[in-house]
Amino acid sequence: MFFPLDENTSITKNEALEILNLQDNDLSKLIEAAYQLRTKYKGNRVNIQLLTNVRSGNCTQNCAYCAQSRDSEAPIEKYRYVEDKKLYGDNDLVDEFHLSRHCIGLSGIHFADSDIESLAERIRKMKKNGTQICCSIGFLTEHQAQVLKEAGLNRINHNLNSSRRFYPSICTTHTYQERIDNLRMLKRIGFEICSGGIIGMGETKEDVVDMLFELKEINPESVPINFLLPVKGTRLAERDISALTPEYCIKVLCLARLMLPKSDIRCAAGREVYFKGHEKTLFKIADSIFASGYLTEGGQSLEATFRTIEEAGFTWQVESA
Ligand code: SF4
Repeated sequence: MFFPLDENTSITKNEALEILNLQDNDLSKLIEAAYQLRTKYKGNRVNIQLLTNVRSGNCTQNCAYCAQSRDSEAPIEKYRYVEDKKLYGDNDLVDEFHLSRHCIGLSGIHFADSDIESLAERIRKMKKNGTQICCSIGFLTEHQAQVLKEAGLNRINHNLNSSRRFYPSICTTHTYQERIDNLRMLKRIGFEICSGGIIGMGETKEDVVDMLFELKEINPESVPINFLLPVKGTRLAERDISALTPEYCIKVLCLARLMLPKSDIRCAAGREVYFKGHEKTLFKIADSIFASGYLTEGGQSLEATFRTIEEAGFTWQVESA
């Protein structure tokens, strides 16, 4: 099978499906093709993001995978605003270790202008050292997005999560189209975009392909691919994840790299579970990860993440200018 090796050669939906259906023992050529693109556009560095959950729980939405949703009975900590000490402490860590980005997540879908003003105030403080900041947040009004832009926020995360067809199976309190419209508005006013999905929620391979084609249209700077961590107390707690073999997860990341070669391809939630022992291969494809856990789930510590990257033959440090 032919694999595209630059940003100008695109693949069809059928070819994308063929990639997801490749025999596991035919993977080496696919990985090498992804690696060539990764090296060409991203060098040898693994970008590390640190994630702070600024607002946790009590969301009005019913996203099936999410511990913070209105339907979730997961015993998570719930708060309206994380303590400043934690937020600024995390930001200091990002600066001290020259990590790529501080990502901040807020549960919820709509926000009062006063909440956005307080967030903007905190962003202004954190931007004093020039930290790159990304905010994962629901639907903003154009005015609210402008307020955050003026505060210096660089990037916004808003995931498509899956295909348009499958989306109603995981969420019925808002629509896929609202997500697309929100991303278009954010892009129009000049934000960098971070948008990706979750694999393993019961979707078909066609759904994965369709989601990646939707993402290709949006062309985000960053594409986080999460692999489902079924959280106790959520609707997907008992979801069968046996199809999430390392080989399948690798194929999904390779396809994302081939289709969006210049974007950051982030192996997000699930890295520590599904890629354990496969980090050398993982970093040949993905150039971006989180350290120190996810919104409501733990993860690999910062120090252990540094070691994992170095042992795999990659670097997390800024490459010399
Ligand atoms: S994913 Fe976001 S919008 Fe959906 S339930 Fe969780 S916090 Fe709410």
